[in-house]
Amino acid sequence: MERDLLADVFESMPERYRSAEAGPGLRADIGFDVGGRCWTVKVRGNSCEVVPFLEPDRTATVKTAPDEWIRIACGLMDPTVSYLGQRLTVTGDLGVLVEVFGLFDSYSGEGIEVKPPYWFLDTLGPHIRARKDGTILVEGLSCLDLAEKYGTPLFVTSENQFRRNYREMKAAFDQFYEENSCNVMWAIKSNTTMALRRIMNEEGAGGDCFSAGELYATFITGGDPEKMLLNGSNRSRETFRMALEIGLRITLDHLDDLLEVEDLARELDVTARVLIRLKCELPSLGGLRSTFAPGVPVPLEVKALKFGLKFEEALEIVRLAKGLPRVKIEGFHSHIGRDVHLPQHWRGYARDMIRMAARFREDAGVTASIMDLGGGFSEIRDPSGNDLTRLAPSIEEYARETCQGIRDGCLEFNFPHPRLWVEPGRHLVGNTTVLITRVGSVKRTPELGTWVHLDASINHLQAIEHFNGMSYHVAPADRAWDEAVEIVDLVGPNCAGDLIQLKRRVPRFERGDLLVMFDVGAYNQSYANQFNCIPRPAAVLVRGGRAEIIRERESITDVFHRQRMPDWLLRPLPRKTINPDAGGPSHDR
Ligand code: PLP
Repeated sequence: MERDLLADVFESMPERYRSAEAGPGLRADIGFDVGGRCWTVKVRGNSCEVVPFLEPDRTATVKTAPDEWIRIACGLMDPTVSYLGQRLTVTGDLGVLVEVFGLFDSYSGEGIEVKPPYWFLDTLGPHIRARKDGTILVEGLSCLDLAEKYGTPLFVTSENQFRRNYREMKAAFDQFYEENSCNVMWAIKSNTTMALRRIMNEEGAGGDCFSAGELYATFITGGDPEKMLLNGSNRSRETFRMALEIGLRITLDHLDDLLEVEDLARELDVTARVLIRLKCELPSLGGLRSTFAPGVPVPLEVKALKFGLKFEEALEIVRLAKGLPRVKIEGFHSHIGRDVHLPQHWRGYARDMIRMAARFREDAGVTASIMDLGGGFSEIRDPSGNDLTRLAPSIEEYARETCQGIRDGCLEFNFPHPRLWVEPGRHLVGNTTVLITRVGSVKRTPELGTWVHLDASINHLQAIEHFNGMSYHVAPADRAWDEAVEIVDLVGPNCAGDLIQLKRRVPRFERGDLLVMFDVGAYNQSYANQFNCIPRPAAVLVRGGRAEIIRERESITDVFHRQRMPDWLLRPLPRKTINPDAGGPSHDR
């Protein structure tokens, strides 16, 4: 008979109870509803009993799924992360619950593999890796030396990892969709460092641009207009003008866009090539739930977001555009993002897009030749998945299923194979970059916890492990294989709590240590801000043992340099002389 793992997890709780640590006055009945099966864990001082039903008067009740609870019980998943991600709900006294949770050893039943926190080091690949002696290297350069030379916090990007990611993705899509050479368009929003766009341009990658600024960065670095697309909503006439002058395609997200673009195309004497952004109807995804807005079915989420047009709205625009000689509709666009997270979801989504395209052919006589499915392909260690114990599916699996979905749709709806465009952001750039950060004060407070302060901040990291945040693997820069011996919160200096990563099992850190945070290439630099007047970090590009700054470290004067003082506030006041960039604001000189 198959072992009942979930029951074993609960039945073993009395043995795993560290009774010596429990206060004599502790008294709690914690109820569990795990996928419909129920238990109550009854704690009375140093004794613990488990009963297979819900007691009527409970201190707190936990509701979650079996897989989630098994992972928590094994120490593979932090319950705080599950709670913040709404995969675990609690009613009742959360404080007592947290106290009780802390009194149990992890479950380690037969067949359950508990990976050491450094397991991921074996998955890093050739460009960013940990040497046997524990030194972390980026293309041969040690993170210790890079920190010494450029200071911390420091973003370090491996150029060859970036090129490799692009080449692998392009090869995968070309292999599985031989009908066309897929346009793999890097979404520059994921990292707006110009040197990175330059690398993609050298590789021949396409691109998604969302604004005049992204157009600028894409084309000043040599982008090919044939492979680029201006996306976005409510773009200004000047942004459309820029796009039409450069000659790239534009997505339409509103009737206003059509009218503006047509008017400009006449003025500039060009033909505007456009795609229509759709709210894709997703019968193939059924009840798939969003991770971005936890619990919400993805088809509903797509409708609720500002982007895209419903079929009927889009149909009106398509019909109108057919009569406009300066506008040519070439295809359809949709971006659902990382909520289409498994390869089979991509297959269904691709098929659903063809289904919609076939309806436009029938109802408006327009046959799309480009199908742009947007981005959202997971990174291999998937920081947005908030699960530090798993790898995401490979890009080959994503490509195979997506291309199969296109072919399924074309066969089912007798639709000619369109050119396939995809707009990956995070997948291409995420794992190319590490953040090196220095440990400051380590606050070890008995009974409360340990806070390891870093000079990095959530200002620079889309961090904190809740449903919209990221879980990053971390390791000491010079002893990456060290055993994890402590559970700590990694925190930054800002006054908003600055919780970078919660309840992480790590090796012992002391002031002055360097810590490397992996897979931080996507969205962190583009979202970075200066809250608390903290300047943004520098970024370095490494290629084959050579390093160059690609973003200078900001100074305090940079933080303020766009600010102005009205002349009526200029009356002299006695003030200290401060040279902010020579020693920081607390050093009056
Ligand atoms: N394309 C569009 C239109 C987007 O809005 C985004 C991200 O928001 C992307 C592509 C890139 O998404 P990802 O980085 O998840 O691949």
